[in-house]
Amino acid sequence: MELTTPISQLGRVGVTAARYLRHLGIVTVQDLLYHFPFRYEDFRQLVPIAKLTPGVPATVRARVELIGNRRGWRRRRNLTEALVRDASGTLRVIWFNQPFLTKLIKPGDVLYLAGALKTDPLGPQLVSPVFERDTGREATHTARLVPIYPLTAGLTQKQLRTLVRAALPLAKTLPDWLPREGQGKYKLIALPAALAGIHFPKNEAELAASTRRLKFDELLLVQLGAELARQQQQGRRAPAIPFAASPIRALVNRLPFRLTPPQKIAAWEILQGLGRATPMNRLLSGDVGSGKTVVAALALYNATLSGFQGGLLAPTEILAEQHFASLVLLLGAEVPLALLTANVRLRHAPGRGAAAVPLSKLHAQIADGAIAIVVGTHALLTETVHFRRLGLVVVDEQHRFGVEQRRVMREKGQGAHFLSMTATPIPRSLALLLYGDLDLSVIDELPPGRKPVLTRLVEPGKREKAYEFIRQQVKVGRQVFVVCPLIEEEKVNAERKSVLSEYKKLSEVIFPDLRVGYLHGKMKAKEKEAVMNKFKSRALDILVSTSVVEVGVDIPNASVMMIEGAESFGLAQLHQFRGRVGRAAHQSYCLLFTTEAVGGSAGERLHYFEAHHDGFRLAEKDLELRGPGEVYGTEQSGMMQLRLATLADRELIRQAREAAREFAAALDRYPTVAARVARWRQGVHWE
Ligand code: ADP
Ligand code: MG
Repeated sequence: MELTTPISQLGRVGVTAARYLRHLGIVTVQDLLYHFPFRYEDFRQLVPIAKLTPGVPATVRARVELIGNRRGWRRRRNLTEALVRDASGTLRVIWFNQPFLTKLIKPGDVLYLAGALKTDPLGPQLVSPVFERDTGREATHTARLVPIYPLTAGLTQKQLRTLVRAALPLAKTLPDWLPREGQGKYKLIALPAALAGIHFPKNEAELAASTRRLKFDELLLVQLGAELARQQQQGRRAPAIPFAASPIRALVNRLPFRLTPPQKIAAWEILQGLGRATPMNRLLSGDVGSGKTVVAALALYNATLSGFQGGLLAPTEILAEQHFASLVLLLGAEVPLALLTANVRLRHAPGRGAAAVPLSKLHAQIADGAIAIVVGTHALLTETVHFRRLGLVVVDEQHRFGVEQRRVMREKGQGAHFLSMTATPIPRSLALLLYGDLDLSVIDELPPGRKPVLTRLVEPGKREKAYEFIRQQVKVGRQVFVVCPLIEEEKVNAERKSVLSEYKKLSEVIFPDLRVGYLHGKMKAKEKEAVMNKFKSRALDILVSTSVVEVGVDIPNASVMMIEGAESFGLAQLHQFRGRVGRAAHQSYCLLFTTEAVGGSAGERLHYFEAHHDGFRLAEKDLELRGPGEVYGTEQSGMMQLRLATLADRELIRQAREAAREFAAALDRYPTVAARVARWRQGVHWE
């Protein structure tokens, strides 16, 4: 057996469990070892029967006197009843609907039984305890700190524990990639011990030391990856594009508004970056509506002033058109612009306005440099698009593009500078961790005068009232977005169904007198376009869509964002939806509907959302509640790799960063580290 051995070869349990484990992403023994418990049940208290306290988890060690099945008298379910005895007394034990237990447990067996004592009219009893035969060896499911794992349907905690137990001896053969000196310096235990200790800790101290070591590994890898990416980056060349101070100032002075302080700082940082002879790779992060476009426009304009071209890549046609319109307003009098999507090719020349041009002509004008800035969708990525001198590439909503697409765009410019924009606020603390000192600009302030969107969690009983309110808003001329619940399996068909049923309900039952439209991912681009344009031109009052359709669309007249199944979304995503309204002077509203009445943590999350409007704060909270992988998805480099470590591990993050710097500076002296990080980077697409 080796670490790469498939689970199915781990004995009898392995064969049946392998199929289900696949759902958890566990295929090999190594995957299993890295499937960590999310909590532990403390059954260490080995207590004599006579000393059990109701409600307190404990383990008893007792001999089975009697065991048998009978029908329960209340709900006619099967009851397995046993009477067990130790030196201090006897105890009744009950299990429900597991009649096969009488085959497994026989009178005379000595068992560990872990659970909490309950008292009912028949006296004290142990209900559905975890049991385990006393084999004289260390217990797995009882009489210890018992690991509780994330599960999937078809698997039990017992099966998983048994498998991990079987795999653990292999952990000892796992070579420790972290050199001894590193372990000593940062006071870390060895990797095999940490793996054993996180699954089956003997005590809290062992658990803490094991967790610390494994967190350190995660944090070190993430930061080493960032450090190496950075080294690579610094080895590349890019054209230094000087800061053309006076035309840029003139443009800023002509804007119909004053830049906010963070916009000014971001623009300055970007213009500095362009001026260096190494390619800029900067992320501009700012809440929806914080004004990223104008900052990007300044950077693009600056590139054109030195004879370079600029490209702005948007994930959808609608967003590309919106950006093109913004750039025409901001820069149309200065430089020739073009829009290139699968369906639309426009050119805008100073003094001559916009006109449609044939694709071949547009290609030629991009290739000979007659066009200074091209805005486009994926159409920009096709091989037939060549730039004469591409100096800066801007990618909007960068997470909507794959790594490969971003690479293609970058290569069109042979060392062009790169600016990504995201409306998902990434807290600086997280960015620092994931991207090292990689360039980050943050716009953490909205332009003045924006009214916060009034947000309400609508109780199920108040639905009618909320609909009435929506009707009022439409009466005074406003428009409404409706977002359908998130569908777990992300199936396009299921999404389509949910949109259509919501559409039917709203258009036929609730608002038969209003104009309702819908959008879903299965529609053709042209159809979506047509619906969007109808909404834009106010030919529709209400637009129903899935959560995945068209982020960042600008419909200033919309004043209500109604979200169905709000409990299924994370805070960051809810915030994105809310950002689609409140873009003009009128008061806007965000109404949250839930599929069922929610309480507990979901309710707490939604109430937090009601009360907070700062995207960065919401992102921090989301990270706290759900972890980086959930919040930012798999696409964001490295985030998924943090299974144990969180942003709260500040000191450990700092130490791991220090270690990352040391290793990165002399990687050839640490072959095991080099090999480990190389393997890690294969799994993570690092920019
Ligand atoms: P986002 O960051 O979401 O891309 P946009 O760039 O689309 O935001 O800007 C949203 C709106 O705010 C636009 O209409 C833009 O003209 C306006 N805007 C941008 N900066 C300012 C500012 N400093 N003051 C006032 N309005 C601004
Ligand atoms: Mg935008």
